[in-house]
Amino acid sequence: MLPPSWTSPPASAFVPTPDPLTPARDITHQHFQAGDEIVVIKGVADGELWGDAMRVVAPSWHTLTEEDGWRLRDADGGAQTFITAHPRYLVHLSRPCPDCMIYLRAMGDHLLPRHAGADNTVIDCGWYTTTAVGQLVHIADVHGGR
Ligand SMILES: [Zn+2]
Repeated sequence: MLPPSWTSPPASAFVPTPDPLTPARDITHQHFQAGDEIVVIKGVADGELWGDAMRVVAPSWHTLTEEDGWRLRDADGGAQTFITAHPRYLVHLSRPCPDCMIYLRAMGDHLLPRHAGADNTVIDCGWYTTTAVGQLVHIADVHGGR
């Protein structure tokens, strides 16, 4: 559970939090291309949105949604350096992008007030899992969408 706020940093906490935004995101496969730097938002750290930064490598089939996805390279991924994600999980880092900014701003408005005061703590909202075959899956897609 969430450690008390006086716990010494760095700490991380798994705090399941609803995510109505990612499943509802309307973004095309073509919005991204190989070479793009992206981030998958996973929670909050020190009052800012937190996630995993990765690079788009190539088109790849996202099996759980049965839609076109993107192969990503996670430099810190260890055994799972390459994973496949759905486009709606991704946010552009490499260039200013109005579509992604709207999502990021909405995500900040949604998440930051809920986790205010959790300084020096990485809050993992528990949205994503990676399957044994390297498919990144949002919790809403595991349950067939909501
Ligand atoms: Zn974008």
